[in-house]
Amino acid sequence: MSSPSFRPLSAAAEQAVPSELAQWFSASRRALPWRAHRDPYKIWVSEVMLQQTTVAAVVPYYERFLKQFPDVKTLARAPEEKVLAAWAGLGYYSRARRLRQAAQEILKNGSFPASHKELLKLPGFGPYTARAVSSLAFGEKVGVVDGNVIRVLTRLSGFPHPWWGSKVQRSLQAQADLLAQSTDPYVFNQAIMELGATVCTPQKPTCTVCPVIEHCQAHQRKQVASIPLARPRPAKKIWIWQPSLHVREAKVALVVNNYAPFLKGQWMLPGTARPSQKPPQEFAFKHTITNYDIFVLPRQGSASGPKGSCEWVPLAKVSEKTPSSLIKKALSHYKLIETSS
Ligand code: SF4
Repeated sequence: MSSPSFRPLSAAAEQAVPSELAQWFSASRRALPWRAHRDPYKIWVSEVMLQQTTVAAVVPYYERFLKQFPDVKTLARAPEEKVLAAWAGLGYYSRARRLRQAAQEILKNGSFPASHKELLKLPGFGPYTARAVSSLAFGEKVGVVDGNVIRVLTRLSGFPHPWWGSKVQRSLQAQADLLAQSTDPYVFNQAIMELGATVCTPQKPTCTVCPVIEHCQAHQRKQVASIPLARPRPAKKIWIWQPSLHVREAKVALVVNNYAPFLKGQWMLPGTARPSQKPPQEFAFKHTITNYDIFVLPRQGSASGPKGSCEWVPLAKVSEKTPSSLIKKALSHYKLIETSS
């Protein structure tokens, strides 16, 4: 059965919501560092960081990152390891890698693309990031659709069906684009995301202070708690990772990971990884990365190193080379380094 199409806002709501949100936003907006300017590079960095964690957690990372890489040119010319080290703690290192790759393309092409269609051609730019950067930095009249926007739009329209299907996603995007047409897209997009983050929250939204309450179907029908529907999460995959710790003269052997599906392409301890139907009976520790539950069984390797090529990295510099906390945990298991956690 195909998913039912998204019921858009009423014509009256479409007309009123953008200006009511804009008014509310000008009085209630939080002073966030990426709102102090319309610099596309800085907005882009903030948007990529915000995809994976909360505003409060992002602010110190954002400020440190921009101090180290203040513009496209600095980021494009920085060694990948330095960029990954600055990203350490945020996770999803592939995003940092693609950020640097896209900066290199922008530098090569000579200018920052101003439309979402052009931005989509760069590494790491999906529909959300491309629209966020083009509307917030360049004023392109397109709407953004992230988790906050989905929550607000589905509640406003009282849409009680799965929203993650591609047909409904297209309807949500069309609805957001339409609303962004009628006003300053910077203000509309920031305002609707801000409403989702601070008022129309997943649990216990504060509807009494909501500026668009009179247009909200979910509120009128007392369905706020059940809209939007919870998206079913895919089951985590179980993997057993057996890293080998080859150590000599306070250096450890690292290889570029082409044997495990997690941390792919990153510097990692050599070893083996295999999928499993169930957790092993014995393991040193468990670590979770995105959809992987990783059960770790470290092995002591020889001082001569693993088979094939490797790089001997001073133990004190491992976190610069590979910032993942999984590697740190494996090294600290053998008391080769100390960790604060
Ligand atoms: Fe969200 Fe409540 Fe406002 Fe509806 S009335 S949009 S549920 S905060």
